[in-house]
Amino acid sequence: MKIRQQLVKNNKQTYGGVNPLHGVVVHETGNTRRGANAAAHANLQTNGNSRDASWHITVDEKEAVQSYADNEQCWHAGNREANTTRLAVEICVNEDGDYNAAFRNAAEVVRMKRIEHGWTRANVEQHFDHSGKDCPSRIRAEGRWEEFLDLTEPEGDKTMSVRTPSEAIAWSKTQTKGYVGLCLVFVRSCFNIAVKYPSAAAAWAAAKKKHHTSSTAYIPAGAPVFFDVPGNKYDHVALYLGGGLFRTNYSAKGTVITASLDHPVFNTMRMLGWTEDLNGVTIPGLTQTESAAKPTGGKYTGNSIVDYLASVGKDSSFASRKKLADQYGIKGYSGTSAQNTALLNAMRGGSKPAAKPKPSKSVAQMADEVIAGKHGSGHANRRKSLGISAAEYERCAPR
Ligand SMILES: [Zn+2]
Repeated sequence: MKIRQQLVKNNKQTYGGVNPLHGVVVHETGNTRRGANAAAHANLQTNGNSRDASWHITVDEKEAVQSYADNEQCWHAGNREANTTRLAVEICVNEDGDYNAAFRNAAEVVRMKRIEHGWTRANVEQHFDHSGKDCPSRIRAEGRWEEFLDLTEPEGDKTMSVRTPSEAIAWSKTQTKGYVGLCLVFVRSCFNIAVKYPSAAAAWAAAKKKHHTSSTAYIPAGAPVFFDVPGNKYDHVALYLGGGLFRTNYSAKGTVITASLDHPVFNTMRMLGWTEDLNGVTIPGLTQTESAAKPTGGKYTGNSIVDYLASVGKDSSFASRKKLADQYGIKGYSGTSAQNTALLNAMRGGSKPAAKPKPSKSVAQMADEVIAGKHGSGHANRRKSLGISAAEYERCAPR
C-alpha cells in the first residue's frame, strides 16, 4: 500500500525535535460524520489545523495520507513522552466509509512501518496505553486489538515470540534511555509482550500468577517485580536480574539503570512481589525455583542485609534492623547502605552482639602490668593497650 504524502509545511503543532521512533500509537479519529475520511483529515492539517493536535498518518478504506514525516514529534497521545518518541496513525470511522477496510489498511500501514523501523509487536500501542483515553475506541469496544496486531506481523512471523527470562535480562541491558513514567512499557518490552494495561498497578492487579514477597531471596532471575509507590496510583515494576539487582526505568533521570533496593530509585517503594504472567501472557520458563522458593539457610551470598535476614529466617523490617544494629554496636542506625553493609558483615562474620566489655584480666593483674610498664606510658595509651573502657581503667589505674 502506498502512503500518499501531503506534508504540513510548518511544524507549529509539533515539538520541533527529532522523533527517535520507539514505536507507533494507533488511534481512531472518533469523527463519524459523513466525509470525515483520510483526505478530509489530511486537509485539516495542511489547511492550518485549528486544533491542539497533530498526527502523522490518517487511513481510511481507500488510502493512507501522511501529514508529518515519521521523525516529527506530533501531539496525539496526551503524554509528552509518547508524543516525542512515537509515530501516530489515525483510523477513520466516518459513517459513509468502510470501517473494516480502513482497519485492514491501517494494519498494513503499521506492518510496513514495523519493517521500516524494525519494530516488534510490542512496539505497536494504543493511545489508551499512554493516557488512559478510550482510543482506538471501536477496536477496543469490539475486542479486535489482537486481530489488528496479527495483521501487522511481517510475513513469516505471524506469532509473537515472547522472550524467556534470560533473553529478557539480556535485552534489558541494551536499554539505557528511560521510558519517562512508563515503567510497564519498559518491562513488557523486555519480554516482547504487547500492551494491555495502562500502569504497573493495573498489571499487578490483573496478574493471575502472583507471588507475594518482600524479599529478593524468593524471586527467580528474569521476573517482573512490582512495587507499591505511596502516593502514586501507577506504582512501579522492574525486571529482577538476580543477586539482589534490578534493571529498572528511572523516570526522574530519564534512564534505565541497574540498581539494588538501597538505590534512590526505590526510595519509599514497598515490594509487593513478582508474577509469572504479565499483561495476560505467561512468561516461558519463569517458575519459582526450589532454591528461590526456600530461605537459603544462611547460604545467601549477595550484598543485601534484607535478603540476608530473610535467608536466615529473621525479620528484615527497619525496626528489626535497627535493633540488630544496636546489638552489634552500630550507632545511630538510619538504614544507610554503609550501615547495612556493616551490619551484614558483622552478622555474616558470626560475631556475637557486642556484650558489655569484660576485661579478661583481673583489675589487680592489669594494675600490676601497668606498673611493670607493659602498657607503655600515659593513661590513654595504657587504656588502649589493655583494651578496656575508661571506667574500667579508672579502677585499675596505678593507685
Ligand atoms: Zn487517540
